[in-house]
Amino acid sequence: MSSSAEKIKKDENGRLIVPDRVVIPFIEGDGTGPDIWRATKIVIDGAVENVYGGRRKIEWKEISAGEKGYEKTGQWLSNQALDTIREHVAAIKGPLTTPVGKGIRSLNVTIRQALDLYACVRPVKYIKGVPSPMKNPEKINMVVFRENTEDLYAGIEWQAESAEAEKVISFLRDEMKADLPGGAGIGIKPISAKNTKRLVAKAVKYAIDNGYPSVTLMHKGNIMKFTEGAFCTWGYEAARQQFGDAVITEEEVYKNYSGKPPEGKVVIKDRIADMLFQQVLLRPDEFGVIATPNLNGDYISDALAAQAGGLGMAPGANIGDNCAVFEATHGTAPKYAGLDKVNPSSLILSGAMMLDYIGWDEAAARIRQCLAETVKLGKVTYDLARQIEGSTTVSCSQFAKAIVEEISSLENVR
Ligand code: NAP
Repeated sequence: MSSSAEKIKKDENGRLIVPDRVVIPFIEGDGTGPDIWRATKIVIDGAVENVYGGRRKIEWKEISAGEKGYEKTGQWLSNQALDTIREHVAAIKGPLTTPVGKGIRSLNVTIRQALDLYACVRPVKYIKGVPSPMKNPEKINMVVFRENTEDLYAGIEWQAESAEAEKVISFLRDEMKADLPGGAGIGIKPISAKNTKRLVAKAVKYAIDNGYPSVTLMHKGNIMKFTEGAFCTWGYEAARQQFGDAVITEEEVYKNYSGKPPEGKVVIKDRIADMLFQQVLLRPDEFGVIATPNLNGDYISDALAAQAGGLGMAPGANIGDNCAVFEATHGTAPKYAGLDKVNPSSLILSGAMMLDYIGWDEAAARIRQCLAETVKLGKVTYDLARQIEGSTTVSCSQFAKAIVEEISSLENVR
């Protein structure tokens, strides 16, 4: 690393101070991770160089985690790795294997919880030319804010017939007069006002800052009243309390404005989860930002990704108040490991989100523009090529090189 590169810092108001030569940590990931990371790195470096002409540069700092970390240090995810992410404020990672049956919790979930990255942010925007099952895919422009730290993902569960499960069942029957069968497995679903409100506040702020017309609170409160229902109630409260006149509820829009939202206000509405799955298919243009508890968020993000080209195209970020980790939303796709074959777009577009986060948005825009142009030219990896007639199948690295060529062909905007 060059001696002049520095870490991102924060001012007293929590705003990022990003040096022109900035150190950013990366975890290349397992399986196909190294292939997509190599591709992503050349695209990010190419865009930064093209747009800022050497004035700005990223110095990459590798963090060993996952299989590589285990080989090197005997640890899948060390405290040092977590500290490095925390200290550098922004990091990017490829997918990590979760070792099955070894009593190890998902490394991805551990990173999110250990660093309190409470918002999983997944933008889903259609790129022209990408195959989609939708009739009008160009209407898709949504961003999911999934709560990342609680709900059924809190990891509080007991196996059926275990002593712990039976103890909980006895307590619920004897003390709480709940009717439930013995021998059941038990999982606990905590949803709190504090964690709901900070997630919804982040979603509303994002909608305001990025010109989205609405925030939809997605919940299953008709059935789970005190968890999902409370999420909805607290969500409205957070929007009203923290954003005042900048927001308006859908109910108010119909009551006072004949259903036409007044200019410049973000509409806060809510939808029952199952109905929302229908509506995003039938009327995708009615939804912008979607804020939702953890499990709903997991489902809806992948379903929306499928509408806009699948997981290979879907970027993601896990963002907290202190730091953020940008990551591919798919897994390690182990059968393709080392074959230089899979689509690196998910990680490349996550890299663009990272550039937005650090305020280098011109470089982020350049990446999105040139990736879209490369797809338009029909140079795509196998996953898209099998759905686009007349396209040319390129490898993971060739796809990245084609994007860099597009970038280089454009004048810089320094
Ligand atoms: P996966 O790795 O996402 O792969 C499933 C299938 O999705 C692949 O076989 C491939 O389908 C397609 N796919 C995934 N990535 C692609 C890409 N970049 N380009 C094109 N197609 C892609 O899911 P998995 O096999 O269930 O999980 C494997 C491992 O990943 C597990 O250890 C899991 O724990 C881990 N995982 C990690 C993360 C993370 O790090 N955030 C997330 C999910 C899973 P085709 O074969 O049909 O082409």
